[in-house]
Amino acid sequence: CPPILAIDGPAGAGKSTVTRQAAAALGLLYLDTGAMYRAATWWLMTAKVNLGDPIAVAETISQCRIEFVPQSQPGLAPKVFINGQDITQAIRAPAVTAHVSQVAAQPAVRKILVKQQQLLGQNGGVAAEGRDIGTHVFPQAGLKIFLTASVEERAKRRWQELQAQGNPDISLAQLQADISQRDYADQHRAYAPFRPAPDAIEIVTDQLSIEAVIAEIIRLYQV
Ligand code: C5P
Repeated sequence: CPPILAIDGPAGAGKSTVTRQAAAALGLLYLDTGAMYRAATWWLMTAKVNLGDPIAVAETISQCRIEFVPQSQPGLAPKVFINGQDITQAIRAPAVTAHVSQVAAQPAVRKILVKQQQLLGQNGGVAAEGRDIGTHVFPQAGLKIFLTASVEERAKRRWQELQAQGNPDISLAQLQADISQRDYADQHRAYAPFRPAPDAIEIVTDQLSIEAVIAEIIRLYQV
């Protein structure tokens, strides 16, 4: 099977678009691990589980079945289901984004989800994006990329995306504050904190187009 492509990076660095398109070009299965932490968070919030109670959280998550269903048009992100329910849109809601780092910090949650991710990639052939792919999920990955950009640039991109979706209510300053707060929480959790794998190749995307980044990753993968 083809080697695993691991793409890690902070919020808003362009990981989803880049990983999805690189996966399509290289014939790899696209795996969005952030969507799994979001799905788990959505389920816990909907079930009104106390997110600060690690035992209740772990018990609930261990009963969850998260599935990805590819869409018919190539290049579209797969739909996300939890226990048979389509939550593709729901997991992008601001309330989920605001709580996901708290859930992702819990060791039991990470152990359950990392095991599921490793099962999906057990035969290789996967392009996975997240925060711990190169360090914990697939340390044996054939190519590890750390995709990043300044927080100003990442907030600007997210803001433009929200404007284009007709979502003008949030200010650029607020978005930047939210992104910084989530980065900080992910980098400072006690268990499996988010950091680049020592053998990852860093790509800073402030001055690069999405197309240039994808082309570079495809080139590196094929070397
Ligand atoms: O990538 P995305 O922004 O959707 O990730 C949402 C959150 O899920 C991150 O802020 C982080 O708390 C968590 N996450 C993680 N490990 C991963 C992927 C995501 O802790 N591999």
